[in-house]
Amino acid sequence: MDPEQQRIEEDLRGLLQGDVRCDDVFTQLYASDASIYELRPAGVVRPRTLADVVATVRYAAENHLAIHARGAGSGLAGESLGRGLVMDFSRYFRRIVADEGDRVRVQPGVVHDSLNRYLGRTGRLFGPDPSMRSVTTMGSVVAIDSGGSHWPKYGSARQHVEGLQIVLADGTVLRVGRHAIDPARNDEAHTANGEDNRLPVLVQSVAGLIQRHKRTIEDRRPLSLVNRSGYRLDDVLSAGQLDLAKLLVGSEGTLALITEATLTVAPLPAHRGCALLLFESLDRAAHAALEIAKSAPSACDLMDRRHLSLARETDVRYELLIPGETEAMLLVEYHAESRDALRARLEGLVEQMQYTSGLAAASYIAEDEADFQLYWGLAQRFVPTLYRMQGLSRPTPCVEDIAVPVEGLPNFLRHLQDTLKRLQVTASVFGHAAQGQLHIRPFLDLSNPDDVRTMEELAAELYERVWLLRGTISGEHGDGLSRTPFLAKQYGPLVNVFRELKRIFDPHGLLNPGKIVPVAPSRITQHLRPTEAAKPQAAETAVGDVITAGANGEPRRLLELQLAWNAEEMAAAAKVCNGCGACRSTSPDVRMCPIYHVNPREEASPRAKANLIRGLLAGGLPEDTLVQEACKEVADLCVHCHMCRLECPANVDIPKLMLEAKAAYVNTNGLPLHDWLLTRVDLLAGLAARLPGVANWAMSSPQARWLLEKATGIAQARKLPRLARRSFLQQSALRRLNHPPRTSGEKVVYFVDTYANHFDTQLGEALVAVMRHNGVAVFVRNDQLQAGMPMIAAGALEPARAVAAHNVAILAESVRQGYTIVATEPSAVLALTHEYPTILDNDEDAIVVSQHTQEACYYLWQLHQRGRLKLNFQPQRISVGYHVPCHLRALGVGAPGENLMRLVPGLRVKRLEKGCSGIAGLWGVNRNNYRASLRAGLELMSTVRDGPFQIGATECSTCKMQMEQGTTRPTVHPIKLLALAYGLMPEIATLVRSTGSPLVVT
Ligand SMILES: Cc1cc2nc3c(=O)[nH]c(=O)nc-3n(C[C@H](O)[C@H](O)[C@H](O)COP(=O)(O)OP(=O)(O)OC[C@H]3O[C@@H](n4cnc5c(N)ncnc54)[C@H](O)[C@@H]3O)c2cc1C
Ligand code: SF4
Ligand code: SF4
Repeated sequence: MDPEQQRIEEDLRGLLQGDVRCDDVFTQLYASDASIYELRPAGVVRPRTLADVVATVRYAAENHLAIHARGAGSGLAGESLGRGLVMDFSRYFRRIVADEGDRVRVQPGVVHDSLNRYLGRTGRLFGPDPSMRSVTTMGSVVAIDSGGSHWPKYGSARQHVEGLQIVLADGTVLRVGRHAIDPARNDEAHTANGEDNRLPVLVQSVAGLIQRHKRTIEDRRPLSLVNRSGYRLDDVLSAGQLDLAKLLVGSEGTLALITEATLTVAPLPAHRGCALLLFESLDRAAHAALEIAKSAPSACDLMDRRHLSLARETDVRYELLIPGETEAMLLVEYHAESRDALRARLEGLVEQMQYTSGLAAASYIAEDEADFQLYWGLAQRFVPTLYRMQGLSRPTPCVEDIAVPVEGLPNFLRHLQDTLKRLQVTASVFGHAAQGQLHIRPFLDLSNPDDVRTMEELAAELYERVWLLRGTISGEHGDGLSRTPFLAKQYGPLVNVFRELKRIFDPHGLLNPGKIVPVAPSRITQHLRPTEAAKPQAAETAVGDVITAGANGEPRRLLELQLAWNAEEMAAAAKVCNGCGACRSTSPDVRMCPIYHVNPREEASPRAKANLIRGLLAGGLPEDTLVQEACKEVADLCVHCHMCRLECPANVDIPKLMLEAKAAYVNTNGLPLHDWLLTRVDLLAGLAARLPGVANWAMSSPQARWLLEKATGIAQARKLPRLARRSFLQQSALRRLNHPPRTSGEKVVYFVDTYANHFDTQLGEALVAVMRHNGVAVFVRNDQLQAGMPMIAAGALEPARAVAAHNVAILAESVRQGYTIVATEPSAVLALTHEYPTILDNDEDAIVVSQHTQEACYYLWQLHQRGRLKLNFQPQRISVGYHVPCHLRALGVGAPGENLMRLVPGLRVKRLEKGCSGIAGLWGVNRNNYRASLRAGLELMSTVRDGPFQIGATECSTCKMQMEQGTTRPTVHPIKLLALAYGLMPEIATLVRSTGSPLVVT
């Protein structure tokens, strides 16, 4: 850490209750957002209290440091980036402070979606709907003046802000709203900290400024329906009052820091419905939008051909819905007081667009909620998904926020197409047509200087036309680094009024300098993310080292790659992360990062991991970063569950990046003792199994568990499964299952793994019984080892490789003999199919094993699909709450266990959609994580305890542990229920045959 940064960190730590970090790793995590820019701050502050905010501002003022407020960092224009102190409100300022029915008072870090979930319970909502609302914070919604698809109905944030609590650049705390501009009437003005004259002076100064420049303000006002560029001064002064709160909306943290916002809320619509209109050209869609805008829609979104093609490729339902020749589509939503009125509006729309004007080629009306969600999925899901496209050119947010008067839309779209053709650039177009708003993302490779020039040229060309049409270069997203360079052209002399306004609020330019009001001449191409400013510097040597050029061009050795990829592939994986922040979601219906769910702080997010690696490979971090504790701290916040890889719109392979980082650390520093022991759980279980009676006694003795916790780190309160008296592999040997069956039919080799081997041998028996019942011979190789997933997840690749190489060698041999490998433990399947080829450098046998391994339920489900599964189940009057484990989801095979259970007559299965169980492999077994793990799994655990079913079911052994924690209700593997239903293992359950009575499963 730079000595200056060290001083700042020490000083601020003495002043604040919140977090202060100025180290290299942390500042790298906060150096970027969802834009194309990167600027390393001097430090990061996460205030806990208002006093923290004030103290930081005063300290910054004394030390001439800038302050950049930040929420989720999902801004597309680099609005929250800067060289000073980033103040992250999203960590601790997350409270809904007051609820007064038609208004709420919130802290700035409250997430938009959380607010609307809260309001939804009482039939209300906060209307403006930026599309990243699952992570966007309310402070930023106000600071950016966010809006979205439903702007025609709800407008943007500025229509909903009644008052703000703010901290000025000198640390003064004020409550602002509407204020009389007559000084004599300002005695009611007050400040929260008693500095009585600050507010009246501010009001007078601002009002005077606006009055003096009334003409310029009016003349230079864009005529588009939406405008988020510059300061909005045209509608804040009226009837002798200045609406200071409204003026601060959209000020991008450049005038004041928002510490509370009072917002008006609206009732949920009584009835809502939507229709899709399909067009043969973008031009026809634009003309249709002009008509629709007059019909008071609640939303009217435009999608172009590229967008639709992506939807068709990704989801078969869209392929069926949208003909391949469709060039554009409009999604139109109406609200109405009755179902009939709604229907009439939608039918009227279709009649007009398709049959009267003939503009639309086809149309669909959503018949129910499922259709409604499906249609809206088109608008909401696919912008981020554009980033999945392969190749160096990426959808680039640089001219992504243009808005023109609606009547200028056809003209602008024609100009756009001509310009793109001339510059030979492809782009995707998505827009809110009723408000003339277009989100254009050209496909550019910003590591190529030619493309950087093209970006500048494109911006210049398109913006000229925007100004000709009296539109704005930002309708929703703000100016940030991306658009501030163009403000002088958009506003001419009005920019000087902006400058004066900035001086009134922030005379020393402390608050987010360089945004809206430029501090120096700037260009859209300045401060590009380093990996995008130059070709990736990382290059691979023969031995797999990653080398970058140091400051003086000398080679710097960063790391020796451990996994099956080269440096360019690794750099590309990190670069694919566009910083959108979707992985910061904590919505209960999203299975994103379980660690971020319990620990909503930037370093826990998958994005942080990509930023860390990108920073390292781009030369922004010291070469020994990966072996430092600060980096390990971030890497350890990944438990290798693979959920982000599935859910990330850009499919960034964060688990692989983190595995590389952990492996580098472990290679140099080794594993801490407790981690070492937990990664050897199979060995520990094997040792304990020599005296199972004693071991089981010890596991139920509080004193012994206390000792166990001290020795191994296994949390004392964690309910552990009982050890089997004889391991499944030993039992198999006695039953001669370890001899290859002599059969010409279907045959599987069962990969057992630790849990079924040492703890739940009955699961192995059930698997064998079910397979044999279906005519599938089972071979249990005695020479197999555990899968080694805990070692892999910890980055202990040396022992993991040894285990993997052994398993691969014996299993590949079985595959060559015609066996399919099956496993009952999803993480073992993931190890065999996904991890082994990665850690064994795509060894040929590892690929063979990977291609011939199946999760056991999936194997049986495939059998069923081929008509080969016996269906002679005995009816079971059992109700089951089923949880899909993360590692099963990561396999991408759906929920075959659930499908199989549904084949059993009388067995009632309820899918529990409660997200990750929270245990994340052995992470939640460790005493350091035990409580966090319970918090993460609370919803699932409570449902299992109290839900309207008799038992839980899941395939994963650690999810089962979590589901059984705090309840006597058992959780079983679906295969056990199949064995029971086939009548193969009646000992599995003692059923009291009346619904609602307890079911005892051994
Ligand atoms: C895929 C994608 C789609 C998007 N779609 C939309 C859309 O439909 N509509 C839309 O409006 N935006 C959209 N955005 C942009 C972005 O999500 C929004 O602007 C959002 O409001 C930013 O919220 P945030 O919490 O991430 O803010 P950040 O990016 O962290 O900050 C945004 C700005 O707010 C300021 N700020 C934050 N907190 C405070 C505070 N407490 N006091 C003062 N200033 C503060 C920051 O300084 C910065 O200037 C999209 C972004 C992405 C990646
Ligand atoms: S990891 Fe994926 S979801 Fe997260 S910020 Fe990067 S691209 Fe977005
Ligand atoms: S793999 Fe799992 S734990 Fe790791 S970052 Fe992704 S979602 Fe989070």
